[in-house]
Amino acid sequence: MAQNKVQYQRGLSMPEFFDNYGSQEQCEILVRGWRWAQGFICPRCQGSWHSEFRRQGRLYFQCSGCRYQCSLVSGTVFESSKLPLPTWFLAMHLMTQAKNNVSALELKRHLDVSYPTAWLLKHKLMQVMLLREESRQLTGRVEIDDSYLGGEVQGGKAGRGSPNKVPFVAAVQTTESGQPITMCLSQRPFTKESIQAFAEKSLAAPATLVSDGLGCFTAVRGMGILHEPHVTGGGAASANHPSFLAVNTALGNIKTSLAGTYPAFGFRKYAHRYLAQVQYLFNRRFDLRSILRRLARAASQARPCALRAVRAAELPC
Ligand SMILES: [Zn+2]
Repeated sequence: MAQNKVQYQRGLSMPEFFDNYGSQEQCEILVRGWRWAQGFICPRCQGSWHSEFRRQGRLYFQCSGCRYQCSLVSGTVFESSKLPLPTWFLAMHLMTQAKNNVSALELKRHLDVSYPTAWLLKHKLMQVMLLREESRQLTGRVEIDDSYLGGEVQGGKAGRGSPNKVPFVAAVQTTESGQPITMCLSQRPFTKESIQAFAEKSLAAPATLVSDGLGCFTAVRGMGILHEPHVTGGGAASANHPSFLAVNTALGNIKTSLAGTYPAFGFRKYAHRYLAQVQYLFNRRFDLRSILRRLARAASQARPCALRAVRAAELPC
C-alpha cells in the first residue's frame, strides 16, 4: 500500500525539540523576537529605552522613561503562570506532533505538573488555536455534513437524547477531484438560521456546497453559494458516498481521535475548543515541523486569557 505523504512526513523529533527549545534562554529569545521584533516597547509609554534584570530566573524589563516594569511574558498567554517557558513549549510540542489529541492527563504526566495546571495550560493553548482559526473561510468545492460529539459517557444516556451530545457541522474544502485541503468545524444546531450564520462566517463565494440533502443546508441558497444536494438515504449509503469522502473521512478521524483521548469527557461546555484544536491541526498538517513555532508565536502575540474566561467557555478570552 502506498504511504500517505502527509501521514508519513518528517515531524519535529524529541531530540530536535530539546536541542532547539530545551532551555529557558532559547525560548526567551524566540518569545522576545515575536513580541518585540524591533526591540522592547514599553506597554505604558511606548518608550524603547530600558534596562533588563532577572528575578527568580525570569527576564524582566524596566522602562527608563516611566519606570514601568514588566516580565517578558506579561501580556501574553504565558502570563500568570509559574511554569518555565520550556514547559509551555513542550506542551505545545506534544499537542502539535501527536498523532491523536493529547489529554490534560497525559500532559500532567509528561510535564510533571498538577492536573489543574495541565488542564489550564491545555485550554489556554486550545483557545489560541481557536482565535487563529476564527477567520478561516472555505471556498470552491466544499463538502459539508452534520454530526455529534460525545454522548458515550459510561453509565450515561446514549444516543441523541444524551445530555452530553453536542451537534456540530464539519465542512471540508477540497480540490475538484475531492482531495481535502482545509476544514471548518462549528458547534451549532442543524437549523436553517444556524447554517446561514455558518455560511456567512465560514464560506466565501464562489463556493459549491456539497451535502447529503439535509434540509437545513438549503439555507445557503441566495447567498451566492451553490448547493449540490445528493440525497442518499443516510446511514452507510451516505457515509460511503464518493461525493462526501473527504468530510466523512475527516469526521471518522475526529471521532476516533477525540473518543480515544477523552473516553469519559463531557464535551458540552468546551466542545468548541476541542473542535478548534482539531481544525487548527488539520489545516496545518502539510508542514508538521513548523506547527510548534507557529503556535508559540501566536501564543506570544495573543492576549492573556483570564482563569475565569477559560473556565466559563462562553466568555471571550
Ligand atoms: Zn514606559
